[in-house]
Amino acid sequence: MTRPEPVPASLPAPVPAPLAPGSTIGILGGGQLGRMSAMAAARLGYRCHVFSPEPDSPGMQVAAAHTLAAYDDAEALNRFAGSVDVVTFEFENVPVATLRALEGRVPCRPGTKALSICQDRVAEKRFLAEAGVPVAPWREVASESELEAAIAEIGLPAVLKTTRLGYDGRGQAVLRRAEDAAPAFARLAPRPLILEAFVPFSAEISGIAARGLDGAVATYDAIENRHRHHILDLSFAPARLPEAAAGAARSHVARVAAALELVGVVALEMFLLPDGSLLGNEIAPRPHNSGHWTMDACLCGQFEQHVRAVAGLPLGSPARHADAVMRNLVGPEGLAAWPGMVAREDVVAHWYGKVEARPGRKLGHANRLLPLNALGALDDVAAQSF
Ligand code: AMP
Repeated sequence: MTRPEPVPASLPAPVPAPLAPGSTIGILGGGQLGRMSAMAAARLGYRCHVFSPEPDSPGMQVAAAHTLAAYDDAEALNRFAGSVDVVTFEFENVPVATLRALEGRVPCRPGTKALSICQDRVAEKRFLAEAGVPVAPWREVASESELEAAIAEIGLPAVLKTTRLGYDGRGQAVLRRAEDAAPAFARLAPRPLILEAFVPFSAEISGIAARGLDGAVATYDAIENRHRHHILDLSFAPARLPEAAAGAARSHVARVAAALELVGVVALEMFLLPDGSLLGNEIAPRPHNSGHWTMDACLCGQFEQHVRAVAGLPLGSPARHADAVMRNLVGPEGLAAWPGMVAREDVVAHWYGKVEARPGRKLGHANRLLPLNALGALDDVAAQSF
């Protein structure tokens, strides 16, 4: 009897073959990120099947098929799993249980590890520190007395946040004086909460990376972000940063992609401190609003990268061929700005097809393109005058 050859422990797992053209990518979530992913997928010859509880969602309008059902509808999930070749999500508040129900049936990229870490600010902070990305001091707080103790350690000002389901500044309060603590604690739910030191940042930066099925990582140029009423308003690419900080932003997000073992696109929001160092704030395990400029200013934009990763294709080049300023078109003002944006020759305008233009809703975005390396020479007013 011959004994089988021992398999070395370090032998890498074989990488599955890429999805053939004509295959179907299932997308959990019907928002604009799924819509733009589906449009990129169509260009590479893939069909998309959008699963969302919201009728006529932006993603459904451009997908080959859709399922209108709740995320906990086991029968609908079962049918969905049987009709797609791979599953991804475009929205990180999809319940982990939904992805878990699909996971045994069909490859899910990214998987439950990335989703569950990014749904919980405490898990996210621990993960960032373990991945080698510095974060501001923080404490988990489940009671008013724990909040008092945390304030004594961290000091004021500080930011009290929900650990789950917060987005666009919802679910948080800045504590400036000791008297702010009790009312903020009473208002914020669900608990536990997290108290973070207030970061006196000089700019908000994000990094975006894609990680392929073979483990290859591609990063985009660092981005500088400005918010209005807690919603992203403008992104400047590349960020006007010292070279060392720009390099650190890329390496931080690359480390996050690798440590999450993510297949797909991930964004890392960071704070730039006056001394040029960066602190990690939040991870989004999906294409990100601050990466919308890459669609028009890079050889392979974030949505195509996401589709490539999920489909098992090699990643594309993240190289920037133009500088860009992205403006979000939000609510009724965005609707009013649209005719002007779509008429400009230096702007590529994107509209999401949302049924209502409610205040605070992102309806579209506009990418103003500038010659390569021209952005750094513009002052702030000139850079955003569009
Ligand atoms: P987040 O939901 O964590 O992305 O926070 C939303 C916004 O609140 C950020 O983009 C910052 O402008 C601000 N913010 C969040 N955390 C802090 C902090 N620890 N210090 C200062 N500002 C913060």
